[in-house]
Amino acid sequence: MLSLDKSKAAFEEAKELMPGGVNSPVRSFSAMESTPPFIAKAKGSKIYDIDGNEYIDYVGSWGPMVVGHANDEVIDAIKKAAENGTSYGAPTLLETRLAKLVQEFYPSIEKIRMVNSGTEATMSALRLARGFTGRNKIVKCIGCYHGHSDSLLVSAGSGAATFGTPSSLGVTKSVASDTIPVPYNDIEAMEAVFEKYGEEIAALIIEPVAGNMGLILPKQGYLRSLREITKKYGTILIFDEVMCGFRASLGGAQAAYGITPDITCLGKIIGGGLPVAAYGGRRDIMDYVAPLGKVYQAGTLSGNPLAMSAGIATLEILRRDFDGVDASRALTLKTKELVLGIEAKAKEVGVNVVTHQAGSMFGIFFSKEEIWDYKDAENCDQNAFKIWFHSMLNEGIYLAPSQFETIFMSLAHTKEDIEKTIEAAGKAFRKVANGK
Ligand SMILES: *Cc1c(COP(=O)(O)O)cnc(C)c1O
Repeated sequence: MLSLDKSKAAFEEAKELMPGGVNSPVRSFSAMESTPPFIAKAKGSKIYDIDGNEYIDYVGSWGPMVVGHANDEVIDAIKKAAENGTSYGAPTLLETRLAKLVQEFYPSIEKIRMVNSGTEATMSALRLARGFTGRNKIVKCIGCYHGHSDSLLVSAGSGAATFGTPSSLGVTKSVASDTIPVPYNDIEAMEAVFEKYGEEIAALIIEPVAGNMGLILPKQGYLRSLREITKKYGTILIFDEVMCGFRASLGGAQAAYGITPDITCLGKIIGGGLPVAAYGGRRDIMDYVAPLGKVYQAGTLSGNPLAMSAGIATLEILRRDFDGVDASRALTLKTKELVLGIEAKAKEVGVNVVTHQAGSMFGIFFSKEEIWDYKDAENCDQNAFKIWFHSMLNEGIYLAPSQFETIFMSLAHTKEDIEKTIEAAGKAFRKVANGK
């Protein structure tokens, strides 16, 4: 049995100082009704808590750690940058280098602006789309997460053409009313919205591979239809690839599905574990951004040299081959092996799961039925997941504390890690089958 005595004490103290004891809600493990391990250090595929427990980590800081934790090259790059000073608020060669590297993977990004978080990237991309089109409304899919800026903290009841209602206190009704939420993977609902409001819609923003309601893949032809409909109405198509960028494939979902968006948002991986995100796309649109254009957006620490260096080192690693295949393929093969192994273990004991994979991302739903959108996800067996999660944690497998989060593979995960994880999954499914 895992001992978490020090983490428990640390959590009690933290709760006195920070809301829920954390600086980002999901870290509190509240949905799992347990104590989050407090992390002391990480290396490769492993993280270690302050009680001395070791875990194989599949959270990867919620996505960024695709080359593994504390990668020597990334750490060296950060150290070298730090010795030259931590911030100047002036242009550096590092920004140009990272911009070029990103463009190599994402040719649709003709011009880019670096920011500090995914939230900032999507918020700024929306402002840009509104500035460029002179329109106010935006469309988002229910269950997609695009950070916590006001216009994007909107969900809705069922029904396509209902206007958004805020999903957080503090978001005004008037802001939310410019956001139209539509079910993911439902092209008819999307068409209905565009028929009614098409001329008023500045942007359609979407996670082309949805990773924030568990991992849900786009139906065949869905993204293509979105491209066509936005073109027809002069609406900016924004792919939020903050999570699926460099994961669905190295070139993101846009390369995997062959669809070119107008604007792309990136984050997570491009900072190599430091706070970096970016938005970029068509040159004629990006030229609306200040100082060239009249859409204002700025950042004291944007393009920070440490963060740029970590991003550059990470993307340099992703350009290499691993055992004769490129990084995308290497990651995809590892992930496939794990997912097939987990699936087989579930089958052995008759537990119903639906698994999805996109490159180095995967998800497991405790469900009999296929999952296509947020509503399907809501019907999953929460209790079964909770049993499974706690058993996995006890066996030293660190997963996101919710089946509605995506799980991430890294280049640092070994064959032994994968075998150990599959073994642990077998034990955990047996507990689920026994209902405890
Ligand atoms: C994580 C995430 C964001 C928000 O990024 P932050 O850096 O947490 O602000 C936005 N969009 C998607 C798809 C994400 O996964």
